[in-house]
Amino acid sequence: MGERQSGRCLCGATTFTAVPGNDAAVCHCSMCRRFSGGMFIVTDCNGTLEFAKDAPISVFQSSEWGERVFCSKCGSSLAWRSRDGKVQVASVQAFENPDSFPVVSEIFIDCKPGTYDLANATTRLTEAEFFAQFAAQSEGNA
Ligand SMILES: [Zn+2]
Ligand SMILES: [Zn+2]
Repeated sequence: MGERQSGRCLCGATTFTAVPGNDAAVCHCSMCRRFSGGMFIVTDCNGTLEFAKDAPISVFQSSEWGERVFCSKCGSSLAWRSRDGKVQVASVQAFENPDSFPVVSEIFIDCKPGTYDLANATTRLTEAEFFAQFAAQSEGNA
């Protein structure tokens, strides 16, 4: 397990701590693109994401199983989490050093607009491939 690190929104009213992963993933789905206003680049916090008690966060339920957390003062997109709290990913941009999270994978690659591409080598999964992998993992954990 790595070190606990802190992150914050643009205005600074919302802070959090987490033990982030060593790398990052991009989700190209339309919800993540609308939520983040760009590419949502996240690191897996493995259940360690904790917002400050007085943080003015808003939570938006974006699907049956997922919700998104943002600062209600400045609107910074900070995290996606499963509604059961088991999966939590945070925006690498909220941490002090986004450089420490190399982007190694891209999901929902078939939902990406054709107007840009990442230049670095990544593992790419389509929406169907992602859900197939997710289902296989869930069965393994059950
Ligand atoms: Zn803020
Ligand atoms: Zn997404």
